[in-house]
Amino acid sequence: MKAEIIAVGTELLLGQIVNTNAQFLSRRLADLGIDVYYQTVVGDNPNRIRSAIETARSRADLLLFTGGLGPTQDDLTKDVLAEYLGREMTYDQPSMDKIVAFFQNRGIHMVESNKRQATSIVGAVPLFNEAGLAVGNALHVDGTRYLLLPGPPREMKPMFEGPALTWLLGELGTAIPLYSRLLKFAGIGESKLEHDLLPLIEGQTDPTIAPYAKEGEVAIRVSTKAATAMEAQRKIDETVDNIKQLVGAHLYAQEDIPLEEAVVRLLRLSNRTMASAESCSGGLFAELITNIPGSSGEYAGGVVTYTNMMKHQLLGIPLSQLEGEGAPGAISESTAQMMAERVREIADADFGISITGVAGPAESEGKPVGLVYFAIAQRAKPTDVHTMHLGGTRDIIRVRAVKAVLYRFWQ
Ligand code: ATP
Ligand code: MG
Repeated sequence: MKAEIIAVGTELLLGQIVNTNAQFLSRRLADLGIDVYYQTVVGDNPNRIRSAIETARSRADLLLFTGGLGPTQDDLTKDVLAEYLGREMTYDQPSMDKIVAFFQNRGIHMVESNKRQATSIVGAVPLFNEAGLAVGNALHVDGTRYLLLPGPPREMKPMFEGPALTWLLGELGTAIPLYSRLLKFAGIGESKLEHDLLPLIEGQTDPTIAPYAKEGEVAIRVSTKAATAMEAQRKIDETVDNIKQLVGAHLYAQEDIPLEEAVVRLLRLSNRTMASAESCSGGLFAELITNIPGSSGEYAGGVVTYTNMMKHQLLGIPLSQLEGEGAPGAISESTAQMMAERVREIADADFGISITGVAGPAESEGKPVGLVYFAIAQRAKPTDVHTMHLGGTRDIIRVRAVKAVLYRFWQ
């Protein structure tokens, strides 16, 4: 099956929003083994939407639309497609009930245009919108399949993963369901991972091994078709074992969780706690850890000691260590070590971590951009101190520094 994604919205053409829907759908279709040959973006204009449909029909047999299902005048996708197909509109009752209840509960008067969100093309399968009001549509006409999804990603994704996917799998005639597992890696770049796995990726068709790019993360998806879940597990386990032989040291999870969550889980399992003292990362470590619900059991807290005075006042690091002729300075192995040890003691935690370095853009203490020290202090054990030379802009250096600490921790 050849697919084309048609993102509808003038905002996309004006560069006001990024077409993340197309990225999401392309990735999910690749997972399903459906080839996406084209991605189209078209404004909220009926003539141009119509011509986009015509073009797409000539070169694809699955057309996925996002956007333009809302109540306003510029939300045209459903109407244009209905007119193009010569079909009438009807109302989807469950969606209408949801819309009426939505306005009643909020005590807001419902204007007529809101009903438009419950319209469904005659003959289409209505796709209920769990996260919003506008109903989606799925239909198969003369060999072409059409899938209409809402624009807001928080509505589009659950609709795709739920009713749309069910419909799509039915259309694919996939009596044999597809199973997949996401593998998450740390401490290795995407290209290195792909390079190391190449012998496996090239020689293998079932299960398939596909890279799965996600901002700042490295992952692959292992997928297979199997009659039963058990058989699929067995096949996937076997492939995962082969992957482990090549890059096992970097595989931190076999599900879609971030590295910080894997670290929090590790601490939880061993009933241990940590605290952090950050300088150049400005609290990013604390931010990532506290994003994990329930991490207060494992994370005591942290400080951002940005200036020397704060390192001195809050952590008791001697000023003679931090500044003056011949002092190691704030950006040094020994300061990283002291920060980690002091914050661990203050929090009475099992681990104390510290990050100090030069995020840039300018050098500091005569030390180059990207030089970062981090330390992991432990109760009654020697402190582990690391030196890194990181590349990238200020933001990237900060993220990389924190991820490096997390990776070391996880190891
Ligand atoms: P609404 O009911 O909110 O009007 P809609 O289905 O009519 O939804 P649009 O009006 O086209 O969708 O877009 C609504 C919002 O959804 C946009 O302002 C934008 O924030 C987001 N959005 C739309 N299309 C995309 C896209 N392709 N990628 C990412 N976000 C998008
Ligand atoms: Mg809209």
